[in-house]
Amino acid sequence: MLVVSACLVGVNCKYNGENNDNEKVKEFLKDKEYIVVCPEQLGGLTTPRDPSEINIKDGKEVLHGESKVISCKNIDVTDNFIKGARESLKIAQMFNCNKALLKEGSPSCGCNFIYDGTFSGNKISGKGVTAALFNENNIEVFSEKEL
Ligand code: SF4
Repeated sequence: MLVVSACLVGVNCKYNGENNDNEKVKEFLKDKEYIVVCPEQLGGLTTPRDPSEINIKDGKEVLHGESKVISCKNIDVTDNFIKGARESLKIAQMFNCNKALLKEGSPSCGCNFIYDGTFSGNKISGKGVTAALFNENNIEVFSEKEL
């Protein structure tokens, strides 16, 4: 069983109220069992919402209190991101998921890269908060870019 970023299969849960509908993802999932989650919605954020970035390093630091997630309007949304990651993990464990197909680059779902916290489009290697929590709980994460 897989857990999948909801935006990748067409759910309009992205920060701007749209989605990241991806044909390759849908083709890959065609014969598989999966459940979708949107960690940012599960963390209590609205849709649409302001985009946010991790300000130091990546999701692992956020989980361990060494970094924060900050919106483009300078609002601290760290608690929402951590809550969303925990709720997503709860769902993944409820359905015995051992793999997660997540949206690359997101401060929640990014598997290999995220944005650097300056809102300038610069990418750095690292994981989003949910991807980091999944990793710490033996759920293998991979992104749509790796299909
Ligand atoms: Fe997609 Fe994840 Fe962002 Fe939700 S939190 S919109 S599932 S990338």
